[in-house]
Formats: sequence, structure tokens, C-alpha cells
Amino acid sequence: MTETTAAAASAARYRRRAEALFPGGVNSPVRAYRAVGGDPPIIVRGRGATVTDVDGVEYLDYVGAFGPLILGHAHPAVTTAAVAQIEAGAPFGATAPAEVELGEAIREAMPSIERLRLVSSGTEAVMSALRVARAATGRELVLKFEGGYHGHSDGLLAQAGSGLATLSLPASAGVPADVAAQTILARYNDLGPVEAAFERYPGRIAAVIVEPVAANMGVVAPVAGFLEGLREITARCAALLVFDEVITGFRVAHGGAQARYHVTPDLTVLGKIIGGGMPVGAYGGRADLIDLVAPVGPVYQAGTLSGHPAAMAAGAATLRLLGADLYARLERLGASLEAGLLEAASAAGRSVSVGRVGSILTLFFRGRAPRDFDEVQEADVAAFAHFHRAMRAAGILLPPASQEAWFVSAAHTDEDVARTVEAAREAFRA
Ligand SMILES: *Cc1c(COP(=O)(O)O)cnc(C)c1O
Repeated sequence: MTETTAAAASAARYRRRAEALFPGGVNSPVRAYRAVGGDPPIIVRGRGATVTDVDGVEYLDYVGAFGPLILGHAHPAVTTAAVAQIEAGAPFGATAPAEVELGEAIREAMPSIERLRLVSSGTEAVMSALRVARAATGRELVLKFEGGYHGHSDGLLAQAGSGLATLSLPASAGVPADVAAQTILARYNDLGPVEAAFERYPGRIAAVIVEPVAANMGVVAPVAGFLEGLREITARCAALLVFDEVITGFRVAHGGAQARYHVTPDLTVLGKIIGGGMPVGAYGGRADLIDLVAPVGPVYQAGTLSGHPAAMAAGAATLRLLGADLYARLERLGASLEAGLLEAASAAGRSVSVGRVGSILTLFFRGRAPRDFDEVQEADVAAFAHFHRAMRAAGILLPPASQEAWFVSAAHTDEDVARTVEAAREAFRA
């Protein structure tokens, strides 16, 4: 048996063993590649902008672990900081300096976060932030937007009933209808349904939660006035505005979308980048709101591994390297990838569009970039699946679903972008 077939056999074996253990062979559904086809890769190594699978195949990577790796894989400063903390011991069931350092770095970048609580995932952070919002307002309903993803807690796995601005039905089996009905859905980038919801449920909506740049239905930028309008309506109706910046925080600007668009939320949820690739989440905001959390206030929220020092160290090391020049470079790489993809598609006579904010972007097989979830769903998913497989065959790993963001990291180079565009040129032709 040649070395390659031995390795390939080992990938197949891992997939079989994983399938025997985990639903779909994975521990998070999109990793199963159901949306694009092809065998899900078994990855053993990541360095900079590349990952290597167990067969020894190296890919130029735009998955970026779905968001955290703004510096690329295994950045030496990040791994050194995390390893040093692990060697020092951790966790301790007590506060460690690394928690304070990360907390201060976050507060410095996002002045709307006067105080915060560190947790272990974005899901947990969103769930806790909304608990605070309900406690602060004495109201029960939460308004979210169609196509917005805020983790998998029960209340946020909701989909619209008939018509807009209605109480929701569960979007997942196992979610009690009563819980889903605490969530109201509205169309992203449209203030009309938001106004309508506040009229329909006066004094009952605790918070509006939004990805200020939608990035989980593919990247859909906020239209001018949308975030400002949400700020105005929530303030007028005494509800809280919650920005879910789990992807956009430290990604679309150092201070997140709130800095990029100059709109200040009451509460902010973070995750991904602030853990430098380790499990993390955070929620923060006005001091009076966050001080509702135990042990100071009546809102209970706790975690054995919350603020894990190794994750804090990896996160703090990441944030230390995020300067203005890095964001300028990411913006330039993102813009050049967008321009290259559009040019390559047009040369092949393909009708596509790109939704992009800074270094996150999505290629839509639809002539005009979508503004909301309905328009996102008009894109040709079969065409994306073909494109994904062609790119993978060319050594370029894209996120394995048409409605995911591609993540450009500081480890990507102009040559990487050029190589990606050339591969896309072939893929569009096929
Ligand atoms: C990833 C994500 C979450 C959930 O974070 P997890 O760490 O996966 O639980 C929440 N909100 C947004 C916007 C996300 O992108």
C-alpha cells in the first residue's frame, strides 16, 4: 500500500469512527458538509492561512474555524500565551489575572461595555444577556430578525408564524412552543415590522437582538439608517438594544460594528475572536444592567469553566495584536477578493454578488446582493455546492454552506487572494 492510500484509508476510518460516535459524525452540524457534498475533512493541523487534513492535503482556508481566527491558525503569540497559562495551571475556580486583562482589553475597545461577564460560548452569552434584559425591563418578549443566529438556546430557535411580527413557532424539535412564543421575528434591514411589533405588543418587548452585520445568513450589511432606527425605536419604547457581536466584535473594526456604524447598544454579546480560538463568550454593557447579575444582583448565571484562564490568555494575546494597520490590511484583502470574484464570475458569464463588510464576505449565486433572509433564500444553493467542490479540488477550503461567511485572516496574503480568484475563475467556468 502506498503512503497516500494508507493515509486516505485512515481518513475514511476516522470518518467511520466519528459517525459511530457523533450524529452525522460531527459535533456541530455544518461540519458534516451536507449542504455542499463531499467527505467532511478530518483536519490535523492549521498554520497561518492553511489547514492540513489527515491525508496530508493542504488547503488555503477561508473557514477560519467560523470566525475566531482573525490572526490565522496557531499564531505564535496566541499559542505561547495559552501554553504558558496551561503550564501555570488552570482553571482554578477563582479569579485569575488573565480574566482581568481580557476584560480590560474588551472594555477599552468597546466603551459601551462598562462591565461584563465572561462565559464559555456565544450561545451561553446570548442566553444570559437576554435574561438580564428581561430582568431589567420586567418584560418577556424578545424580537430577533429572520436569518439572524444567536446560538442554539431554546428561545432563539424560533421561526416566524404566518406573517411578520407574530409570535414564533419552534424551528427545532424539542423546543417548547411556549418558549418559542417568547420570540418575535421581523425582517432584517426593515424598520416597519419592528415598529409594528412594538405597536402590537405594547410594553411587552424586553429587547431587540440583532447581528449588526448579519453574518449567519451569509454576510448582509445593514442598510443606512437600520441600526440607528433600532436604537431610536428601542429607546422610545423603553426596550433594550442588544448587539450580538459574536462574529463582528473585533472583526469589522477593533470596536466592532458599534464602532464601525456609530450606534451604541445597551448590551453587547461577544465570542469567537475574544477567545483566540479557545471556548469563550462574554456579555456586557451598561454597569447598571450588568450589576443585575449574581452575586451583586438577582439574575443567576454561573459557569465552572467561565473565564477559563487559557482561553483568556489566548484572547488577550489576540486582541493585543489587533491594530489599525491590521484592519486596513484586512479591508484591502477583503475588497480585493470581492473584486476578483466578481470579475472572474462576470468573465464566465455568471450572475453572482458578494456581500462583504471588511474581512467577512459571502458569494451569493444571485445577481444582486441580498438585503434580507428572503432574498438570501433566492440564491442558487446547488450552484454554490458545485462551486464549493470545485474550489476544494483546487485546494481552497470554503465554509461548507452557501449561507456562511468566509473569513479572511491577517495570515492571508495578496498571493493567496490571487490564487483564490484564479481557482474561482476555473470553478465559475465549470
Ligand atoms: C457563533 C455565533 C453565536 C454562538 O456562539 P457559540 O460560541 O457557537 O455558541 C452566537 N451569535 C452569533 C452572531 C454567532 O456567529
